[in-house]
Amino acid sequence: MPRNRFVSDDRDKKIEQLEEELFLARMAIVDLMPEQLRAVLTANFYCESRELLHEWLRWSVEQIIDAADKRPGHEMGDYPGSGQRAYCPLCGSEASSPYTRGFAFPTGLIRHLEGSHSQQQCSVFRAVERMARDRLRGLEAGGPRIRWSSPRVPPWRVPPPAPTERPAPPTRPSAEIVQLRKE
Ligand SMILES: [Zn+2]
Repeated sequence: MPRNRFVSDDRDKKIEQLEEELFLARMAIVDLMPEQLRAVLTANFYCESRELLHEWLRWSVEQIIDAADKRPGHEMGDYPGSGQRAYCPLCGSEASSPYTRGFAFPTGLIRHLEGSHSQQQCSVFRAVERMARDRLRGLEAGGPRIRWSSPRVPPWRVPPPAPTERPAPPTRPSAEIVQLRKE
């Protein structure tokens, strides 16, 4: 029936608008992050398969953990000799403990980022993970893909640079050695 078709068209258009707004809101969250972490989060655009998504999730958690400002436990309200603790470098939050600051490092922080072990997931990482999953679902449903002008390799698949060779020790000019021997 034509009337229903119009209603349905209207609703589709509204959904499309809301999806666009959601995307922009999620990108605004990413834009608020420090530059180093922004690069890690925006790398979710490489997730064009389930495999890439899982690789990105693993790699990005590692990168975020690396970026955390970890401190000795006793500086964070824990007892002396306890492990290190850190605030979440994305959302700045901490475990809900009245005595200690930050999360136990790295386990507590990893659980916060992943939302595992019945931890509430980091709001920033959740937004970006949802963005990646939504985009992948769209691709799997035949949605548009980014066409790179040249082949791109996800940053986590770029092989690490070869260890630089040790520079050879400077050689003394032979004339100087002759001189030393004379003395
Ligand atoms: Zn967080």
